[in-house]
Amino acid sequence: MNHLAPCPNFIGGEWQTPSGVTTPVFNPSTGDVIAECPAGGLAEVNAAVEAANAAFPAWRDTPPIERARVFFRYRQLVEANFDRLCQTVSREHGKTHAEARGSIFRGLENIEYACGIPTLLFGDSLRNIARGVDCDTINMPLGVCVGITPFNFPAMVPLWMFPVALACGNTFVLKPSEKVPLSAILLGQLLEQAGLPKGVFNLVHGGRAVVDGLLMHPKVTAVSFVGSTPIAKYIYETGIKHGKRVQANGGAKNYIVVMPDADVAKTVENLATAAFGCAGERCMAGSTAIAIGAAAERVLPDLVKAANAIRVGPTDRAAQPDMGPVITAAHRDRVLSLLASGESEGARIIADGRSVKVPDAPRGFYLGATVVDGVRNNMTLAREEIFGPVLNVMRMVDLDAAIEQANKSVFGNGAAIFTNSGRAAREFTMRVKAGMVGVNVGVPATMAMFPFTGWDESFFGDLHIQGKESIQFYTQQKVVSSRWFGGDVGDVWKK
Ligand code: NAD
Repeated sequence: MNHLAPCPNFIGGEWQTPSGVTTPVFNPSTGDVIAECPAGGLAEVNAAVEAANAAFPAWRDTPPIERARVFFRYRQLVEANFDRLCQTVSREHGKTHAEARGSIFRGLENIEYACGIPTLLFGDSLRNIARGVDCDTINMPLGVCVGITPFNFPAMVPLWMFPVALACGNTFVLKPSEKVPLSAILLGQLLEQAGLPKGVFNLVHGGRAVVDGLLMHPKVTAVSFVGSTPIAKYIYETGIKHGKRVQANGGAKNYIVVMPDADVAKTVENLATAAFGCAGERCMAGSTAIAIGAAAERVLPDLVKAANAIRVGPTDRAAQPDMGPVITAAHRDRVLSLLASGESEGARIIADGRSVKVPDAPRGFYLGATVVDGVRNNMTLAREEIFGPVLNVMRMVDLDAAIEQANKSVFGNGAAIFTNSGRAAREFTMRVKAGMVGVNVGVPATMAMFPFTGWDESFFGDLHIQGKESIQFYTQQKVVSSRWFGGDVGDVWKK
């Protein structure tokens, strides 16, 4: 019998495991169940929101420099526990240690950003807007904020949200993905060790019932969501209907245009990383390469070799593979059925990872790196987010055609171009319909100081996660206009 990791909620500073229905958490490398995640319900939601609401006034009134100190300590603790966090992320998600480290570094940068909160919260100020009248902007926290996160970055995406939200003076309830609850628990334990007062950060596990409870709770003020597009849309619509401020990141389908003048070796290396890194389970994964003219002949043979050379295997042991498993057996089967549909519609699989064997972990959820050539826009494979280690290839005559194709997508998260031509790069950056654009950068995901600027069905809301927009999202402005009259006792500075 496997030892199951505990999966408690964290409410009002207490770790508590609710009884009732649970969902299994897998180690995707082995197929073993490693924990049972509580399904949760309204009782936990109400308790967590009440705890966060009760903790709000004191935390709001804590000077920003003192709030920042909690995050300086938190930063040290996350760094000291880096390996533990990496192992937890690898074990419940299947990322290689290198990928897990990279993702936790990105999260750490968000904590570092939050440490700058005393200056990030500065308001505007103008004397004498009219005679004797002064005006000041104060950035006030909102109250109880909520974060709902996906499976694919178990530590990084929660870290996109709660450090800045809390540093701004809000309190927080996190609802992590039920597929990867363990990293979030560790992040919560470290926050507790950093000295965060009880009730300021709360963690409630569960699925739809918990999400709905949070979205409709009258004391929740703002909701940050990251996940698939249909759920992002639902969260946005339900949240705003209930008077919440909402930022909801959705899915993606990112194009990478390869011009005939691109550096072959660097382009192949970057395409492989963009498409197969994290087993393709990234919202910024390069999912379709558009080869212009001779680019296909120059790049595809080496790309196929690179895909075939990727060693797939378990990520929960010392010897590390190049690529780990996908999250569940059901997800692997969905990717396989999308590939089958592509083949039946006329696409050609030129690097085939469908029947990859991993003898030392035969029950893991594996797929090998796969390249599909001859993809056309009318194929399901071309339109739906695959979220697996699959790179579609389309061939086009020129950059205009490639931009037209990329701009047909309902998504607008990322896009990239590989070229040595500044003119082509400029044309692409200006005209492509995507919020994050790479020039010879395959995964142009933004870092903590810049907003994560998805467009169209990759984002619902007004203010994005990360950077200055996140400070605006987690605060509301109060503008104070003041003037002072001479009182009955006369001017105090005059005799
Ligand atoms: P998901 O939408 O299935 O789940 C995300 C969260 O929503 C989870 O916490 C889940 O419990 C909850 N949820 C699921 N179904 C729900 C429902 N019916 N009602 C209410 N809540 C529900 O996403 P996922 O599979 O965990 O993550 C992968 C998706 O996330 C991909 O589409 C990927 O592109 C996207 N993603 C986007 C970004 C971004 O910044 N744009 C970043 C990472 C992942």
